[in-house]
Amino acid sequence: MSNTNSVKVRFAPSPTGELHLGGARTALFNWLYAKKHQGSFFLRIEDTDKARSKDVFTNQILDSLKWLGMDWDEPLIYQSGRQERYKYYIKKLMDEGKAYRCFCSKSDLENIKEDSYALYPGTCRSLSSDEIKTKLNQGISFTVRIKLEKGQTEFKDLVYGTIKINNKELDDFIIARSDGSPTYNFTVVVDDYEMEISHVIRGDDHLSNTPKQLIIYKNLEFKAPIFAHLPMILGPDKKRLSKRHGAPGVQSFADKGYFPDSILNYLALLGWNPKNEKEVLDTDQLVNSFSFSQVQKKGAAWDEKKLHWLSGQHVQNKNSQFLLDQIRLLDSDWGKNSDISTLINIINSLKPRAKSLHEFIAKSKHFFIAPDTYDEAERLKAWPDSSVTKIVSQCSDFLASLDSWSSDVLESEIKSFASENSYGLGKVIMPLRLAVFGSLDGPALFDIISILGKTETLHRIQDAISRISR
Ligand code: GLU
Repeated sequence: MSNTNSVKVRFAPSPTGELHLGGARTALFNWLYAKKHQGSFFLRIEDTDKARSKDVFTNQILDSLKWLGMDWDEPLIYQSGRQERYKYYIKKLMDEGKAYRCFCSKSDLENIKEDSYALYPGTCRSLSSDEIKTKLNQGISFTVRIKLEKGQTEFKDLVYGTIKINNKELDDFIIARSDGSPTYNFTVVVDDYEMEISHVIRGDDHLSNTPKQLIIYKNLEFKAPIFAHLPMILGPDKKRLSKRHGAPGVQSFADKGYFPDSILNYLALLGWNPKNEKEVLDTDQLVNSFSFSQVQKKGAAWDEKKLHWLSGQHVQNKNSQFLLDQIRLLDSDWGKNSDISTLINIINSLKPRAKSLHEFIAKSKHFFIAPDTYDEAERLKAWPDSSVTKIVSQCSDFLASLDSWSSDVLESEIKSFASENSYGLGKVIMPLRLAVFGSLDGPALFDIISILGKTETLHRIQDAISRISR
């Protein structure tokens, strides 16, 4: 057993939008790793960008995590409440000569860039205390820059392996802006250290920040955590998945009645795979099989069809009484005039094709209400002329003569009716389906009519004959 209880991870969303799929995937990998190692999973709300951070987004992110079932450990940290800690460490670094005030103005820095210096040349690195005093007395504003030592920064990423960077490629980067506010790289290091985070698991868009953060760790003499950077999620055009691709936020899956375990299952497969072929996994199975050795570096393609397939698989694995209870939570009136066994039969008939609770509700309408119109395109396809009316009438008489009304009997009887009369099966099934269900889409015809019962089925067929042949 590896390091039980010492695993402490965190998900650190910026509340500038709702929880999107990339964020949820990052949260999930942290959560799975914590659960697998009986560790802790913390949340840190990175709300230092006052203009863009909104409480409504924080609440939405927390609600989406709750809906997904990712429970977190207390305390919930807000960066906005930690400004004093950042100030404390910035001062400490300056006092120890490991960071310094930079009085260069924007235009000074622009001139440096024009001189084709990509990196800050260290103009203010060695100002004397008199020079500093004079500039402070003149009221010149300053940023704070970290003092970078020569050498290499190296770390071993759990996904990317060893990453080495020569410090020459970096400059004395800014850790506090001229208004005194600390930069992202600085706050993250202070927070991860004070929260005793053991593993930083985040998207690979942060890979280039990690060497800078390691330099801050070194200057502060903090022990650095282990890092794991997760592959990008790609849209169909192979670019980073974004709203532009129509990728929905987590909330919309909750609103559409998807099951959270199917979304978790799908998110887990974005960049990770279980060693064996089995892809339909419940949350406990995800926790048990999760490991960084199975996380890929290659971008993970967002595939809506696969999400729908997986969701369907999770629906099929659910008990029908449980589905009924869940549907009733969404719509307490659903099927209120039918008995429980009929409702369970309805659910069973819809189960093979449903991927969300809303689909059960939307696709069950005609079990409860007879259709009174037919889609014209479908009508033309299923019932183009009076020859079909003849077949339907004849089939109706045949059905009226049957004693048993179970789905199996109906299937074999209707099939033999079609073959004895040399009618193609579609010629019989399509118009019947249109007549009883109003559409060519939906559960198996034999299930539909067995659930509707003989009287209602014959009634609907007669209605269709009189409407269509009018
Ligand atoms: N707030 C950062 C983001 O939303 C996360 C930073 C981190 O995980 O280190 O991308």
